[in-house]
This record gives sequence, C-alpha cells and structure tokens, in this order.
Amino acid sequence: MEILNQSVKKAGDAIAAAPLARVSTAEPSKDAVGGIVDQDNRLTWLTHDESGGPTPYAKQKLGLPTIETETATGGFLDKDNRLTWLTHDESGGPTPYALDRLQKSLALPTGSPSTPTTPTGAPTNRHAMLENELRLLHGGTIRTAGAAPVCMIFDHGLYNFKNIVLPLLRARGLASTLAINSRMYAAGAANTFENRETTFAEIDAWTVADKVEIANHGATHRAGTLTEAEAQDDIVNGLKELQAALPSKRILTWVQPAIEYPGFNNGATTANWTDTESGKLIYQHHAAATGTMRAVNQPQIPRDGNIVQGAYGVWLDAASSVATIKTQITAAATAHRGIILRHHPKSIDGGSTLITTAELTDLLDFLKAEQDAGHIRVLTFGQWSIADTGY
Ligand SMILES: [Zn+2]
Repeated sequence: MEILNQSVKKAGDAIAAAPLARVSTAEPSKDAVGGIVDQDNRLTWLTHDESGGPTPYAKQKLGLPTIETETATGGFLDKDNRLTWLTHDESGGPTPYALDRLQKSLALPTGSPSTPTTPTGAPTNRHAMLENELRLLHGGTIRTAGAAPVCMIFDHGLYNFKNIVLPLLRARGLASTLAINSRMYAAGAANTFENRETTFAEIDAWTVADKVEIANHGATHRAGTLTEAEAQDDIVNGLKELQAALPSKRILTWVQPAIEYPGFNNGATTANWTDTESGKLIYQHHAAATGTMRAVNQPQIPRDGNIVQGAYGVWLDAASSVATIKTQITAAATAHRGIILRHHPKSIDGGSTLITTAELTDLLDFLKAEQDAGHIRVLTFGQWSIADTGY
C-alpha cells in the first residue's frame, strides 16, 4: 500500500505542476493521499479508501471498472480493455495514457505548455496545424479584391449531384463543397436512396478532375440523440473513414449535419463549441466548420482572411428561393462580405414546394455572370474560410 500512496502522490504532483487542476495536499484523512478538484469543484481522490480500492465517487467520475489483481492495485480497465495505472512512469509522472484518461474522464483543462508529458489525444496544436494545412493547400489567404466570397455546399443527394448538379457546375467552371457521410453506402444507412448509383471511386475522381471539395458530414447522419461515444465515433471515425475512402485530397472541413450531438445544438453558440465534447471534437479535427451561428448582418458574413467557425448559410431547397438568394448575394457583393449557400440535391424536381433544375440552372448562370463581372468569387468552403475581400 505504501507504493500506491507514493504513486498517487506522484500523479497528483505531476498534474498540479501542469497546472491542470488544483491538488490537495492537506491529507485530511489517511484515506485521502492525493486528489483532483474538477471543474464543478468536486474532489476526486486518486487513492484508496479503507478497503484499498478507489472511492465510489472516483470510480463513478472515471467511469471505469476497478480491476483486482495482485499486481494491479489502483488500476482501471476502460471499455477497450486498456489499463490505466494511477501511478508514475519512469520519469515519476503519470503515463501519457493515464493522464489522457484522467483529463477526459474528469473534464480537466488541458494544453498547458508546462505539461511534463504530452497527453495522448488531448487538444494541443491539432486545430492550429489543420488551419495551417488549409492555408498551405490553397497558397495562403485568398484575396478577392473586393469581390464577395460565395461558397455552395451540397449535402449528399449524390444521385442528383452526379446527374444534375455536377454537370451544371462543370459547364460553368464553378467550385463547390460536397458534404457526405463515410457510412452512406452501408446496409441500413440513412439517405440510401438519394445516394444511389454512385461510388466513392467516382467521388474521389471529382475531387481531382473537378472543383469539388469534400467535407466531413459525420459517419452516419443517424436520427435521434447520440451518446457521447456515438458522437465521437460519428465525428472522428467518420473523418478517418471518409479520408480512407477518398484518398486523393485532404479532407479539412466539417459541414454540420442536423443531427443531435449531446448538448451541441448544431453549434449555435460559443458554449456549444467550447463546453461540449462534440463541439471540441469537431473543432479539433477540422480547420473550418459550419454551424448555426449567425453574423450580425446574416446571411452576410465578414471575410477578412480569418477563419469563421460555425457560420450559418442560406438554403436554396425551396421553390422560388432563387430570387431571394440572388438579392442576398447582390447585397453581400455590395457590402463586400461573404455568403454561404446550402442545398440538398435530393430536393431538385422533388415536388411543387421544391427547387427545380431550371431554377438551379438560373442561379448558377447568375453566379457565373456575377463572377465574370468581378462582383463575387465562387469558392469551396475551405477556400471561402480563408478568403479576404481586401486587396
Ligand atoms: Zn445532411
């Protein structure tokens, strides 16, 4: 037990030095050797109780079952059957995996430059480097010399995208962003019919031969409220799978699907992004992301070369929406601000309340003419995110 006491103190000291949380050294009882105060000001003891095991609150906060072996006193197994030691490594600090598990389980703040060991998977420089990559990929800030940056984002509906939208874009040389789900072709997937008769190989070819950017739209597009684990799978594994299926171009952007990640509310407020696991995961794993945050001049969004996170667009799914959107684009061009156009290709010619091929064609003709006149620049969402209307 003496070894355990020392180990726990070591972990506590290392975390305190980070500084990731306040650590008590008061030792109010012999059962309270070291502890962490979490964001709710509740104390978790990384130590044994009188029976030699972790306290019930510690186990509950960690969400992990205790293991009981002769050589593994004070360790936990997670759902992947990986062991976390509440102990020191050879340097005297907690192991990176142990620190990572504690940070995630206790929602501790992370990222201090004085952290003695780099936590595995904790937010460090990932997002900044993805922004960096986006800029490198496009040759730096895209200066439009006053023209309004316009991006068109198409949400799945691959059958109509392939057969109606893409030929229209090609004929006019217009860029676009296609938001898709990595498991859209799986048995029982959402939106199977609207994505029919297309393949990942075809889509990958569009990213090379056409001005089509792919955005991560989550793995599943499933209905209902997801658990934290399902949300993490949807966001992070969805990106990995999509990149593996579409290897030709880097996928650096996220387009928020209207599905219920816990507490995220489709990214409507700063807190949705900063105080939910889904918001943090989307931000960490993508250079730029859409959400439902409104600009003061919505749908006009200032474009000054700095990435705007969580911006919302205007939808052109409805019948007769094109006239309104043309007016909004003209207003954005006059104000030298950007605008995001959103569209579900499955809507096209889908009934009297929905947009027709003729209306979409009319809008694309308008965009081409406005671009040729120097009033707007039609960009992918990634390009739009680093556009600057200045010279
Ligand atoms: Zn969608």
